[in-house]
Amino acid sequence: MQLKLTSQQETGLRPLLEAAQRTEFYGTWLETIATPLSRCLDLLPHVECRHFDENREAFRNPRSGRLRQPEFRYPLQPSPKILMLLEGFQRSGSVRNVFDLGPSAVAGSKADTLAAPVSVLRSMAGIAGPQRYPIVAFTGVRHGTLTEADRELFWKSFRVPVFEQFLGLSNELVAEECEAHDGLHVREEETIIELRGGELVFTPLGALAYPVLRIATGCAARPERSLCPCGRAGLRLMEIVPIAKERGAHDVRGAQKARGAAAAW
Ligand SMILES: [Zn+2]
Repeated sequence: MQLKLTSQQETGLRPLLEAAQRTEFYGTWLETIATPLSRCLDLLPHVECRHFDENREAFRNPRSGRLRQPEFRYPLQPSPKILMLLEGFQRSGSVRNVFDLGPSAVAGSKADTLAAPVSVLRSMAGIAGPQRYPIVAFTGVRHGTLTEADRELFWKSFRVPVFEQFLGLSNELVAEECEAHDGLHVREEETIIELRGGELVFTPLGALAYPVLRIATGCAARPERSLCPCGRAGLRLMEIVPIAKERGAHDVRGAQKARGAAAAW
């Protein structure tokens, strides 16, 4: 099935491909940027998180400036005081980063709620106690998935709902849970999502300093395009679950084989 892009995605994809062309990793893959751009994207291999981490310099775009850290967006407004337990977001007024505080300050924190990777929330479940506002659980390529058992544990421990945020390699927001708690809304204006051989693969359009296309998530998901009970339209990811796999850092042969079977949403 041919990958279909929105006009906004098409516009965002060109500068990303041009940035990728300047990197060591994509130099040979992208000698020319041919149209349609979706076809160009379709010829690229998918990239595992580990491969990116181990070969970071190969993905650097020498003509781009410093990597800009993403802003953390709390799902409800106005934002309460948040204790952030994940490094790599921009500093902001409502967020106290735990990495700026000593251990004793964490225990005495006056924050209203927590934002942390799902694994950190699991280990804090018996310690942190009830929160005043919904917690944010980070999942995604570096943090895994959030299960129903996690939701029950967090409800019992923190006494507030949880909002899941699915993050990419550098904390960029790929998909987020809304107040309807019915799947995750994909940020389609900033991300291209594909399902390849059953695996969720995404391309963050804004990653011009370190362009990485078709990032493998290790997860499967069901795409849903019906109107969400919250009133928002667009693509949602339902039932995100880890998939078992054994393969190399970036499986080029697998990518070529899967190309015929790749489905685009
Ligand atoms: Zn919604």
